[in-house]
Amino acid sequence: MGGLWFTEKQTENFGITMKVNNTLHTEQTEFQKLDMVETEEWGNMLLLDGMVMTSVRDEFVYHEMVAHVPLFTHPNPENVLVVGGGDGGVIREVLKHPEVKKATLVDIDGKVIEYSKKYLPEIAGKLDDPRVEVRVDDGFMHIANSNGEYDVILVDSTEPVGPAVNLFTKGFYAGIAKALKDDGLFVAQSDNPWFKADLIRNVQRDVREIFPITRLYLANIPTYPSGLWAFTIGSKKHDPLAVTDDSFHEIETKYYTKEIHKAAFILPKFVADLVK
Ligand code: SAM
Repeated sequence: MGGLWFTEKQTENFGITMKVNNTLHTEQTEFQKLDMVETEEWGNMLLLDGMVMTSVRDEFVYHEMVAHVPLFTHPNPENVLVVGGGDGGVIREVLKHPEVKKATLVDIDGKVIEYSKKYLPEIAGKLDDPRVEVRVDDGFMHIANSNGEYDVILVDSTEPVGPAVNLFTKGFYAGIAKALKDDGLFVAQSDNPWFKADLIRNVQRDVREIFPITRLYLANIPTYPSGLWAFTIGSKKHDPLAVTDDSFHEIETKYYTKEIHKAAFILPKFVADLVK
């Protein structure tokens, strides 16, 4: 294979490899190795610690599914928090909801925000919106210091390694419950059922012990490990499966629809068995 190729080892024995036309930026930040590369297949791509975070060509799937399932489930999501999400994609989708009066983003690494703005303008372009407050801080501490103020919290973190390890603990989910209003709900990206079944099982168990409504939903994300991605939703009152046609309003999307909203919760048997 001529040219430069990047391989992400998704397990010790399996990975994906892709042609890289140009390395746009690379540095070891205070928290992680940051690479911004231009790939032939997926366009510009952000890597953190050698893991694909987001690419211009397929980012819409993940960012739409993290944001619109919870934001159409909650009847009036005025105050939204995004933990992680420094590439700006989730914030871009959150702002498509006119009910949202304020969206706070808390990412631990300001370099992710800086270089996403520079090399991923399609994704990070709304971080300067007047409704958005960007904070460079540890999401775990931000949640610990929050009480009853958010309608929706979206956890768009890296894998449970390095700075994100605390963001997959029962204590964090208890903190989220405290930070949410009485009818609040949250979504956390929950990795994949092919290689991280135990993680999904444990997150579902922990969230179920705290939130009366706990569900898992799926989406196809070709550049993420296994291509099948899971999201956990925990809700104090509103059930994502109880949405009606009146719950929805027109927004511009490329993956999410009100039909996908419900279909995403229909799990293949091997995944349903994880969340029993
Ligand atoms: N969509 C990607 C995924 O599912 O793996 C995540 C993308 S987003 C770039 C992940 C962000 O989480 C990174 O910018 C990273 O800096 C941030 N992050 C990791 N640990 C964090 C923490 N403790 N508090 C806030 N942000 C954190």
